[in-house]
Amino acid sequence: MGLTLTVNDMDEEIIGPICQQGIHVRYNAILDKIIVAQKNWQIIKADLGICQESKKFLKGSYLVVSHASAQINPSDYMSNIRDTVLSNTAILKTNEIDQHYIKICKEYWLLEKKLKSIKSKDEQKKTAGNLKIIQAEFENFDLSQLDFSDDFCVESRFQGIRTDIIQKIKLHPLVDAFQTCTCAACIRVVVQSNA
Ligand SMILES: [Zn+2]
Repeated sequence: MGLTLTVNDMDEEIIGPICQQGIHVRYNAILDKIIVAQKNWQIIKADLGICQESKKFLKGSYLVVSHASAQINPSDYMSNIRDTVLSNTAILKTNEIDQHYIKICKEYWLLEKKLKSIKSKDEQKKTAGNLKIIQAEFENFDLSQLDFSDDFCVESRFQGIRTDIIQKIKLHPLVDAFQTCTCAACIRVVVQSNA
C-alpha cells in the first residue's frame, strides 16, 4: 500500500486495512507525503489542463488528506496541528503519548477560550499564567513522538463532476493506480505520495 514510513518488526506483506502493530506513522512522514502529493498534483494538473475546459475544471480541484475517520485539509495538518488533532482525535493512535498530547491540546484550547471570556482582572492574570505554562508544554512537545493512524491517503476533490476528465486524470502515472478505481462510477482519485 506504499506507506514508506517508519516500519518496525514488519516483514510481512501488508494486506487489507493497514492497522498492525509495529507500523509507526510519524508526523514528518505525513508532511512529506503531503508535499510529494501536492507536487504530483501540480504536474497532473499541468499535464491535463491542456484545453480551457479541463483547465477550468482542474482549477476548482483541491487535495484532502483522507483518513477513515476524517477528511483533513492539508494546510491544517501542516499549520494547525492542535486544532486538527482536537477535531479529529482518531487520527492519532491510542497510546499514552498520543493521548497525553490530546490532553495538552485540549487544555491549551480551553484556557485560551476561558481567557477571552473572563472579566475579573485577578482571574485573567491567573488564567494567563496557566495558559503560558500549557502553551510552553505544547510548543516544547516533540511531535516526532506521536503515532498517527495509518489509514490515510492524499486524494483530489473536484467541484462538480466531469467523468470524462476524471477518467483521464485516473490514468496519469502520478495517480496511485493501486488505490484508484478506474470505473466511470468512481470519482475518487488517490495521488501518489511516496517520495
Ligand atoms: Zn469504481
